[in-house]
Amino acid sequence: MNVLQPSDHVVVVGAGVAGWRFVEALRREGYGGRITLAGDEAYPPYDRPPLSKQVLAGKWDPQKTLLATPELLEKMDVTLRLGVRATDLDVASTTVRFADGTSIAGTHVVIATGARARQLAFSAVEKLHTLRSRADVERLNHDLISLAPGSVVGVIGGGFIGAEVATALHQRGFVPIVLEAAERPLVNVLGPEVSSWLVELPASMGIELRNDQQISDVVERDGALAIVFADGDEMAVGAVVVGAGAVVNDEWLATSGLEVENGVVVDEHLLASDRVAAIGDVARFSWKSVTGTEPVRIEHWQVATDHAHELARYWTRGEQPADLVVPYFWSDQYAKKIQLLGHPRPSDDVVRVSGSDEEGKWLALYSRGGIVTGIVTLSQPRGLMLSKCLLEMPTALDDALQVAPWAV
Ligand SMILES: Cc1cc2nc3c(=O)[nH]c(=O)nc-3n(C[C@H](O)[C@H](O)[C@H](O)COP(=O)(O)OP(=O)(O)OC[C@H]3O[C@@H](n4cnc5c(N)ncnc54)[C@H](O)[C@@H]3O)c2cc1C
Repeated sequence: MNVLQPSDHVVVVGAGVAGWRFVEALRREGYGGRITLAGDEAYPPYDRPPLSKQVLAGKWDPQKTLLATPELLEKMDVTLRLGVRATDLDVASTTVRFADGTSIAGTHVVIATGARARQLAFSAVEKLHTLRSRADVERLNHDLISLAPGSVVGVIGGGFIGAEVATALHQRGFVPIVLEAAERPLVNVLGPEVSSWLVELPASMGIELRNDQQISDVVERDGALAIVFADGDEMAVGAVVVGAGAVVNDEWLATSGLEVENGVVVDEHLLASDRVAAIGDVARFSWKSVTGTEPVRIEHWQVATDHAHELARYWTRGEQPADLVVPYFWSDQYAKKIQLLGHPRPSDDVVRVSGSDEEGKWLALYSRGGIVTGIVTLSQPRGLMLSKCLLEMPTALDDALQVAPWAV
């Protein structure tokens, strides 16, 4: 590996948290050459997690999510190109082409184009809201302002985004009704047991959750919206927010010759080719875990940040990646905090080792083949951090139960 030289030019495509943290990390590691950061949004890099929390709840101005302040942009000495969509990458010449007809030839390219909200093709698609970007939250806020307090808002999808949106809407005096297609939210993410412990949370906050909802359409009726169910029933709502997961932004690389398979496939150094890397939500990377190495794409804020740091260290110092990586995720919903360490499968075994539904806080371990694969907590941040050691080396579930680090 030849480390970056001052004569190099690193082009970062995608000005989200991964792209921005990478720029910061490169400078911190001492790289003094050119950096161009290009993104298709109108705003300089900002943080997404507060959008569905503090910003939608009306507690934060969207400007507070800004990561790349004017002072930092100047300090990082980065050329920022906003509002430009990359359409094509020529890997051999590390040249990125944009929709406005311009192109940038760098010596190295970092793909950090993340993911976007999945849209549902209902009749009233123009009126539906999703929540991925600052523009999305501003458009949603604009519509909410004209809604009377107490108006019903349909939230389609009870996953992490849907739950956070419902919480924020409730805090603002609206009446969110969460419509979940599965038997209960997050069953396909956290598994049957953990999702069953969470199912009463909305009600405890006075929010209605309806499971097993088959929605066939959302239509406009006399200027208002109606959610149409498969059985013909209709529900009138003031607005609809869809939280139906994300779609990876990798289509622009279709002709690049890179391996693209629900994300850009990268090696253990996050490289897709000699001088092209992919980081964050868009990367399908080799994740080294306690149960071995497997290709994964993980949509977690912490993983995007870790990728940025790891790639910067590799390109500036040739530093090898860590032996084991422990992904971290959190979600603030229904006045509780869910936190997850590791990347367990929904089919993994689960044992709750501390707390209970009644206490409103608990800690549970996931395991596969007798090895601990994940730790999930409800409002028990200390227990989570104390237990992280269980994922930093392969740990038998029996040993974990004996040592019980969460109880210290
Ligand atoms: C509302 C919300 C709340 C969240 N809350 C949490 C949370 O509580 N905890 C947690 O762990 N994670 C959370 N996440 C997930 C976390 O924000 C993501 O994992 C993180 O943003 C990924 O960063 P990224 O830079 O890889 O991608 P992104 O943030 O998606 O950034 C990619 C950027 O690239 C741009 N782009 C895409 N295609 C192109 C193109 N062709 N040309 C140029 N630019 C392009 C995009 O518009 C975007 O600006 C949340 C996400 C959302 C949307």
